[in-house]
Amino acid sequence: VYGETRLNSRGINFADREAHRHLDQALEEACRQPWLAAPIVDGQVLKGNAQTILNPADRADVIGEVLLADMNAADKALIVAYDAAPGWANRAAGERAAFLERAAELFEEQRAELMARIIREGGRTIQDALNEVREAIDFCRYYAVQARQYFEHPITLPSITGERSQLQLLGRGVFICISPWNFPVAIFTGQIAAALAAGNSVIAKPAALTPLCAAYVINLLYRAGIPQEVLHFVPGSGREIGTKLVSDTRIAGVAFTGSTSTARQINQALAQGTRILPFIAETGGQNCMIVDSSALPEQVVKDVITSAFNSCGQRCSALRVLFLQQEIAPQILEMLSGAMDELYIGNPMHLSTDIGPVISLSAHDDLQQHSERMNCEARLIKAMRLPWSSKQGNYFAPRVYEIEKFNQLQHEVFGPILHIIRYPASRLNDVVAAINSSGYGLTLGIHSRIGTTIDYITRHTHCGNVYVNRNIIGAVVGSQPFGGEGLSGTGPKAGGPHYLQRFATERVVTVNT
Ligand code: GLU
Repeated sequence: VYGETRLNSRGINFADREAHRHLDQALEEACRQPWLAAPIVDGQVLKGNAQTILNPADRADVIGEVLLADMNAADKALIVAYDAAPGWANRAAGERAAFLERAAELFEEQRAELMARIIREGGRTIQDALNEVREAIDFCRYYAVQARQYFEHPITLPSITGERSQLQLLGRGVFICISPWNFPVAIFTGQIAAALAAGNSVIAKPAALTPLCAAYVINLLYRAGIPQEVLHFVPGSGREIGTKLVSDTRIAGVAFTGSTSTARQINQALAQGTRILPFIAETGGQNCMIVDSSALPEQVVKDVITSAFNSCGQRCSALRVLFLQQEIAPQILEMLSGAMDELYIGNPMHLSTDIGPVISLSAHDDLQQHSERMNCEARLIKAMRLPWSSKQGNYFAPRVYEIEKFNQLQHEVFGPILHIIRYPASRLNDVVAAINSSGYGLTLGIHSRIGTTIDYITRHTHCGNVYVNRNIIGAVVGSQPFGGEGLSGTGPKAGGPHYLQRFATERVVTVNT
């Protein structure tokens, strides 16, 4: 086992009524105040054009307001972050780590406040929100350990007599962190924690749809002692603020999680500059699961439901295409349809809810459009119904379609729509070739009890995270470092042992003694 003794954070036992009641009360309490996100540059809370934020489960519920950062705010952040970077890079790594460990404690203390925002701004269920806060805590602690391990002391290298050579890792300068709305706390925190731990100053631009979650995290990071001159917060639109930040000559790198098309635009902006900068991108996937006739049907159905519909399918790791060996397809589809009848679509504030809303009306319309295309081109296997009139919320009921060919799907469909393809056992190689043809390479599931099949698929598919005989979502910090290849991103993997190094520069100092 890759050596670390750190433990991941704990969940809540919802069977314990007292713990559940306590959480409900704390969530209710957290929702009493309206929430605000404002730009914070060099410790100053700035003004900006106001925009209201609506609850995706009920658009009549205005949950708060964001003040958008303008170009001056971004400029000021660049100036201050640039000046502060060398001082931060030269601080002992252990000191930087201690701030993150303190932040992890504060996240634990403020769990309900964070969860309330994830649920009401992000539309996530209670269980998802809890897991997300845990992941944020784990990122802080994990990168703190990594910083101590790799950044605290230089490595002494073999040298010729009379010389001493040492390799050290140092922060690069100003890192721009651009995070997605689907993990508004965990990924937002993870990028910042990694960049800071490695000794960079940070300008964080949260997803335009979830600034309230991000603002709460930023305040906890300041409370943990992260100096204000090394961490700046600029909520705003990607097209304006994001473009400005990634095009600036003072930056030293970009960490981005979001769509493949935005990653391409950032890559192009970086390529226009004269310097060659590191770009860490975690993007989409066209994720598949292959199920052969040796698989256990009950387990397959449970894992398919989790992989395709948890978080309403709004994870880049989520299952999009299920390949079923043709002999077992009828049985699996019948069981899947029955299991979907047990899913509860509803208000994410209730523990019994399995499926909450999608993030926005435009996300809803994209799914609707894709369904309309599938209604013409594919066979509908199952369409769940919304159990009540949900016009006020962005609800989209899960659907399953059977398609003939993988290339009927040209792009990632980000929501609870699952596609099925049947395959004959003799054509497993065609399945692997089809999966590779998408150009994406994020997660892959295999359900099989045949070692040679598992081995063949694992070796021949281009993919970052392979899960065998289990679901394909919810990578755990330190255990399942997460990230893909090809159109799915650049690596290195978040929550893995090589992540921090990419945020750093390596310096070798050779001294003639
Ligand atoms: N790390 C998450 C998971 O394993 C997915 C991250 C994302 O959707 O961006 O499910």
